[in-house]
Amino acid sequence: MALIVQKYGGTSVGSPDRIKNLARRVARFKALGHQVVVVVSAMSGETNRLIGLAREIMQEPDPRELDVMVATGEQVTIGLTAMALMELGLKAKSYTGSQVRIVTDDAHTKARIMYIDEERIRKDLNDGYVVVVAGFQGVDEKGNITTLGRGGSDTTGVALATALKADECQIYTDVDGVYTTDPRLVPEARRLKSITFEEMLELASQGSKVLQIRSVEFAGKYKVKLRVLSSFEEDGEGTLITFEDPENKDSNMEQPIISGIAFNRDEAKIMVLGVPDKPGIAYQILGPIADAKIDVDMIIQNMGADGTTDFTFTVHKNEMFKALGILNQVQAHIGAREVRGDDKIAKVSVVGVGMRSHVGIASQMFRTLAEEGINIQMISTSEIKIAVVIDEKYMELAVRVLHKAFELEEA
Ligand code: ADP
Ligand code: ASP
Ligand code: MG
Repeated sequence: MALIVQKYGGTSVGSPDRIKNLARRVARFKALGHQVVVVVSAMSGETNRLIGLAREIMQEPDPRELDVMVATGEQVTIGLTAMALMELGLKAKSYTGSQVRIVTDDAHTKARIMYIDEERIRKDLNDGYVVVVAGFQGVDEKGNITTLGRGGSDTTGVALATALKADECQIYTDVDGVYTTDPRLVPEARRLKSITFEEMLELASQGSKVLQIRSVEFAGKYKVKLRVLSSFEEDGEGTLITFEDPENKDSNMEQPIISGIAFNRDEAKIMVLGVPDKPGIAYQILGPIADAKIDVDMIIQNMGADGTTDFTFTVHKNEMFKALGILNQVQAHIGAREVRGDDKIAKVSVVGVGMRSHVGIASQMFRTLAEEGINIQMISTSEIKIAVVIDEKYMELAVRVLHKAFELEEA
C-alpha cells in the first residue's frame, strides 16, 4: 500500500465529465489498496475569469480581497470532485486550504507555504477516505485567505506530499509529460522519460509552465518522487523528475547536451542610460526597485568610452510601469541621461546538464540565431543554461530553429 498525492490541473477538472473521469482514476488507485489525496485546480479559465471580474471593479485589485475571491475557483472543484468520488461508492471529503491549515506567509497573491497541519488528513486517510484538497490556496497566521501565485496548485500537491511523506506525487495535466519544449509551439517536441531536478528547475524558472517553479523547489528540497502525467490517458509513464548527483560525471556523460528549451513573454526590459560610472551606481538603481519588492531577473551593465555606463535589467511586464515610476524619481539624483522601458521582448533559454561537459553550446546557439537574422539584446548564463533576450516577434522562430539545431526532435 502506498500513499499517493495526485494533482489535477484546470483542464483535467474543466467539466463534470472530466471530473467523473478523474474520480474513476482515483477509484482504480483505491482498488489497488493505495491511500489517495487529490489536489485540484479551479476549472480551466475560471481563475482568469475571476481576476477579470475583480479588475472590472478595481484596476489594481486589493491583494487581500483578490485572494478571497480567486480562491473560490478551487472551492467549487473540491466539492464537485468529492461528490464524483461518492457517486462511485468511495468515501470522500473535501477541504479548503484554510480548513486543512496550509499555513502561508502573508504575501497575498504570491504567498509561500510555511507549514501544513496534516493531522486531519492523515486521520481521514486512515479511516478510508479519499481526501480532496483545494490547490493554490492557504491561510496566513492571522486567518486571512492567501493564494500561492499562478500555477500554485502544483506547489500545494508537492507540499502535501512532503508533509504526508507520500510515496509519490503525480501531477496530472493536459500533456503526457515534460517535453523538450512546449508541444503547443513545436509539434515535433518530444516527451522526456525523465529529467533531472536541476534541469526542471531551470526550465520552470525560464518560463515552462508545466510545473510551477516552487513545486520543483519543494520536490528538490525534500526529494519528493515527482511525476508529470496526462489525465486523458489510461496509462502512460509520463516524465519522472530525477535527482542525480551533480558530481557524478559518468551519469552526466549519458545525458543529452540540451534537454529542453523554455521561453517567456512575461518580462520587460528597463534601460538606465548614460549613468556616471562610479561605485554604488548599481545599488542606487536596484536598491529602490528591491525596496518596492519588484523582482529583477537579468542584469547587464555596459561601460561607455565617455565614462558613463548603460545599465539594463528585466522585470515582470506587470511591474514595468511601477519600476519606471521609481526610476524617474531617482533619475536626477543618480545623474542618468535617460530611463526607458521596452515590453516587446521575449526570453529564450536552452537548458541541459550536459552543457557542463561540452563546450561550444553558446556559440552554436548564437550562430543559429544569427543565421535567422535574430538580434540578441541580452545574454545570461549559468552552468546548465544559456538565456537570451530577443525581440518578442522572433520568439517562436527562435524556439523552432534552436529545437532543430540541437536535434531535440530525435530520440
Ligand atoms: P494545468 O492546468 O494542468 O496545471 P498548465 O497549463 O499549467 O496545466 O501546464 C501544462 C501546459 O504547459 C501544457 O499544456 C503545455 O502547453 C505547457 N508547457 C510549456 N512547456 C512545456 C514543456 N516543456 N513540456 C510540456 N508542457 C509544456
Ligand atoms: N487555478 C490557479 C491558476 O490558474 C492555480 C493552478 O491552476 O495551479 O493559476
Ligand atoms: Mg499549471
